[in-house]
Amino acid sequence: MLVKQVDVQCPYCGHPFHAEVDFSNGDQDYYEDCANCCNPIRFQLHVDELQKHLQVSVSTDSD
Ligand SMILES: [Zn+2]
Repeated sequence: MLVKQVDVQCPYCGHPFHAEVDFSNGDQDYYEDCANCCNPIRFQLHVDELQKHLQVSVSTDSD
């Protein structure tokens, strides 16, 4: 398991929250509803080959 807690901000309402992201399966692209405004936040995870650099970005569905 390669789980990391990250601080992100909802791209819709700006609500800051903690998200636990699982990098064990490499790059991922999924949606999670904002606890505040219920809009679907798109999470994009990127892991390099050595699993040393983990990147998380959040965006709106329409991006
Ligand atoms: Zn929100």
